Amino acid sequence: MGATQDGSVVSGPSRSIAADGAALLEREAVDLTRGLIRFDTRNSGDGSCRELPAARWAARLLEDVGIGSTIIESEPGRANLIADIAGEDPSLPTLLVHGHLDTVPADPSQWTVDPVAGEIRSDGSADCLWGRGAVDMKNMVGMSLAAIRDILRSGEKPRRNVRFILFADEEAGGFKGSEWLVAHRPEVFAGIGHVISETGGFSGTVAGRRVYYVQVGEKGTQWFSLSAHGRQSHGSQINGDNAVVKVARAATRIAEHKWPADLNPVTRLLFGRIASLLGEDASPLDGSRIARLIEATGFARPWVESSVRNTFNVTSIDAGSTVNIVPATATGLVDGRALPGQEDLVYDVLRRIVAEEGVDVRPIHRSRGYLSDPDGELFSGIERTLHEEDPDALVLPFLSSGGTDGKAILRLDPSIQVCGFIPLRVPDGFDYIGKFHGIDERVPLSALRFGARTLRRFILTF
Ligand SMILES: [Zn+2]
Repeated sequence: MGATQDGSVVSGPSRSIAADGAALLEREAVDLTRGLIRFDTRNSGDGSCRELPAARWAARLLEDVGIGSTIIESEPGRANLIADIAGEDPSLPTLLVHGHLDTVPADPSQWTVDPVAGEIRSDGSADCLWGRGAVDMKNMVGMSLAAIRDILRSGEKPRRNVRFILFADEEAGGFKGSEWLVAHRPEVFAGIGHVISETGGFSGTVAGRRVYYVQVGEKGTQWFSLSAHGRQSHGSQINGDNAVVKVARAATRIAEHKWPADLNPVTRLLFGRIASLLGEDASPLDGSRIARLIEATGFARPWVESSVRNTFNVTSIDAGSTVNIVPATATGLVDGRALPGQEDLVYDVLRRIVAEEGVDVRPIHRSRGYLSDPDGELFSGIERTLHEEDPDALVLPFLSSGGTDGKAILRLDPSIQVCGFIPLRVPDGFDYIGKFHGIDERVPLSALRFGARTLRRFILTF
């Protein structure tokens, strides 16, 4: 795909003037993210993705500033990189900064640009770096590499020990990446107390004021398959036991199920802060009030609104082969997302709903969500750093409905604090969320520069 896989894109910055300070840091944030996009690590889950060349390239960039790294392959070519940066006070719990090297697929025929060329051009409102991974999440990997290199070049030391991990395979479930390392190499995560990674940290606007959405928890992924059995018959006969109809009825009931809003310490703080931006009192936070506060979040609305309740989506129905046979079986798929601690409730409710139509449920994949402490050291440290870089902005915590590698790490030690923090100050009106896994994925260059400065400050001072 016209990708440059030799890392030549960074030969300039890595040799140039170290005294250039912020300018070099910011230039590298763009150049390194661009270099990463040029490694084709599109992961369709069929086992053909190879993160190894990108991991080796990152290892060379770290070696340049005196940091050794270990590359662990879960399978040939499926590379995870681990590096340690020594801090001033090794008695403090280690900060883990992580990212993933793979991306979701991208079909070039649908894109304006080659998705693995790393083109820089304006999108009409801002100069952007275009390509698969520009927001999910080669941006974070590039900015973190730039920040770590800059800290080391300047001869400074982070306050605490920092571990830097680049995972394979996140987009296909992490089975060759974080999940594999947790199962086979848990020592990689020893000593970690705090974790930053996907998917928060981006800016938005609420009531005319800039805000940053920081992820302070994740919902649990709850995937199920449905199956119905009936009587197979010729399509011309009367059939009162039709498996297709059972699954269709169950799907309708699932779609019509209304989950109530259910707040926790993270979403309560979120809505309290949105209310304050609107000049209103924090309480009461009932259903209609919450709906109104969600409206104020603009493009961030899809993420904010799905963070207040459990959800179901029927994502597939499959039955039959031809028009004149009523099939004996029909199946479906349901993507459920549970608030932390409500994973079993979600399963129970689904079972009850579909049982009324004679349909069975089988779990495909279930993970538990988590909530980090919105009053804890990690979220406070992120908030402090963002205020230092952007004093006028307000930080909003939210609960992500997506899944990240953070969940696997928490299974080793649930007391670890995890926040989604990929700092990006995007121009007003830039629909960051809409770029995830989207066509023409791109990130404004100014956002990458801001992110590298913010990550540098955070890694150094947290
Ligand atoms: Zn991602």
